[in-house]
Amino acid sequence: MAYDADNIFAKILRGEIPAVKVFEDDNTLAFMDVMPQAPGHLLVIPKTAAENLFDLPDPAAAAVMSTVRRLAPAVRQGMQADGIRIMQLNGAAAGQTVFHYHVHILPCYDGRPAREHAADMEDIGVLGQHAALIRAALSD
Ligand code: AMP
Repeated sequence: MAYDADNIFAKILRGEIPAVKVFEDDNTLAFMDVMPQAPGHLLVIPKTAAENLFDLPDPAAAAVMSTVRRLAPAVRQGMQADGIRIMQLNGAAAGQTVFHYHVHILPCYDGRPAREHAADMEDIGVLGQHAALIRAALSD
């Protein structure tokens, strides 16, 4: 499948639709998942147009992983998570629903199983509060 420049994350990158942003640098953007599987569920995307792992250039892969490594501890600290799951799906058969490469940073909490994938929309105000907690931990 060819990269679709009208996918929802490409639109976020172009500023055509809003996102609750947490971090941005020259090569990557991180924003809150609107249907979080747990409080603090964050997505990291490259600014490079790539559908998934199979067409992702090495420099973009390195840039995303560098941002993931920077943000995961901030998610853990800011959200007081007991653990962090890093998740990345390739192809509809694997459960991928948005076809711009992305890595999920999913906080895990003891005794609270993650919710269903891409199922329930969170209130924008709640997402903003979680983003603020993560940003504060990032600047510690
Ligand atoms: P995947 O199934 O791995 O492709 O994950 C796509 C993720 O994007 C899901 O967890 C969705 O909840 C999330 N998502 C879909 N639309 C948006 C959006 N407009 N802003 C933020 N997250 C989104």
